[in-house]
Amino acid sequence: MTKEISRRQFLKGAFMLGASILVSGCTGTAKNLTVASKTADGNKKEETSSGNAEVLVIGAGIAGLAAARELRSAGYKVVILEGRDRIGGRLWTDRSCPDFPFDRGASWIHGIRGNPIADMAKHWNIAGVPFDYDSKALYGSDGTLLSDEEIDRIYERFDGLMTYLEDIREGLEEDSRMSMKQAFDRWIDGVRLSESERTGLDYAINTEIEHEYAADISELSLLNGDWGREREGGDTLITGGYGGIAAGLAEDLDIRLGHLVRRIEWDRNHVNVITNRARFRADRVVVTLPLGVLKSGNVIFSPELPETKRRAIRNIGMGVLNKLYLRFPEPFWDENSSMLGYISQIKGEWAEFVNLAKYTGQPALVGFSAAANARMMEKGSDERVVASAMDVLRTIYGEDIPDPTGWKITRWGTDPFAYGSYSFMAPGASGKDIEELARPVGGRLFFAGEATSGEYAATVHGAYFSGIREAKRIGKLER
Ligand SMILES: Cc1cc2nc3c(=O)[nH]c(=O)nc-3n(C[C@H](O)[C@H](O)[C@H](O)COP(=O)(O)OP(=O)(O)OC[C@H]3O[C@@H](n4cnc5c(N)ncnc54)[C@H](O)[C@@H]3O)c2cc1C
Repeated sequence: MTKEISRRQFLKGAFMLGASILVSGCTGTAKNLTVASKTADGNKKEETSSGNAEVLVIGAGIAGLAAARELRSAGYKVVILEGRDRIGGRLWTDRSCPDFPFDRGASWIHGIRGNPIADMAKHWNIAGVPFDYDSKALYGSDGTLLSDEEIDRIYERFDGLMTYLEDIREGLEEDSRMSMKQAFDRWIDGVRLSESERTGLDYAINTEIEHEYAADISELSLLNGDWGREREGGDTLITGGYGGIAAGLAEDLDIRLGHLVRRIEWDRNHVNVITNRARFRADRVVVTLPLGVLKSGNVIFSPELPETKRRAIRNIGMGVLNKLYLRFPEPFWDENSSMLGYISQIKGEWAEFVNLAKYTGQPALVGFSAAANARMMEKGSDERVVASAMDVLRTIYGEDIPDPTGWKITRWGTDPFAYGSYSFMAPGASGKDIEELARPVGGRLFFAGEATSGEYAATVHGAYFSGIREAKRIGKLER
């Protein structure tokens, strides 16, 4: 039902955008963004049609770069094969706006204390600012600003739900396949909520849980959905381009861009990797393919991976979080708040915008959309997506606000090099699946990437640590 309504509203939004939106030079199409990103962060090396290495690393995202760098400093001959024409993977700074590097993937360093990513940002002078999640102007469905009391009531209800979920969780068996939504349905049966109380609660569920894990509560395991450890020290919003971390790590590494890996053949002695352009041979390979790509089956392993690993690939979920960057002639919103929240009657509809004006001085907002809502949005044209966000902003700030002068939209769910934004714990998945995903195969295949990180999945530092982990594992083996 919710989905039906949201689709209708979405289409209505498209119609209402009007023809007056001007497309500025800061508005990227997928094509020119790739080029901009390549010049900013690209590290193209001279092509060879094939080659040998001691270790091949598949993927020049943060995990692959970390693994390659660690291996190279241990004296290994390493070659990275990357399918895209840029490095960084889900760290992707779009530099097509002259005055602001927009991160299409990760934006925050989560927990800066003792975090190597924070150290690298400092080392390479990549600007960032402490981010205050509590500074939020929250608006109701009709566009009116909520009072502190109204906000407190929403979060009291949400806390009540969380306590209930925790109670149920404590009684679950280790192999429970119960989703958060199933437990929520039991709880909601016993409470009486008005329509506006329910939309307020849906807002809290969406922004506190579904944006965080990039999955609907129906897709999240009740037992393990909140898997992973948080780091301390607060979060930093990177404003100087997260891609700079990838560029720093990539320095002097042998990276072959545009090598789409199609097949990985392995036996007891060697690994052969076949790309769209060449064939490579190595003693070992570190596979950092995103979970979404492993799930797609687009890369063939021969012989196939053990059933335990294939089960882990099926069990762990791959979520979607997308961003919409909107640039305006000048800010018309609450410039002091870090975020703008909107309690839509349609769950998940532009519930949160980050106020870039506060952190960068740029008249721009970044809207977020996650899970089912994000997947649905990916099917629409740019104009439809922008129009649906403008509907929300006009409900809050009035019909007279200007059209955006430019926009950028991500579509991570359909990106063939990722098929999603980051991993999550689906019903039935557990830490054992992460262990299986990370487990080497036959002493030849090694696996890294955010989804293999037991403690810090779904993060940049988790991906980084996973690359170091596999490099060290290889370093312990006989050469
Ligand atoms: C919208 C969004 C917001 C996020 N926000 C944050 C945040 O604020 N903070 C945070 O810590 N994390 C965040 N994350 C998560 C973080 O970006 C990832 O966890 C991390 O970048 C993953 O790194 P990785 O090396 O594991 O994978 P990737 O970066 O995806 O690297 C894998 C590489 O493999 C390549 N590849 C894929 N298929 C092939 C193939 N067949 N052949 C050759 N190469 C291939 C890809 O192109 C890619 O370069 C966010 C992610 C997204 C998408």
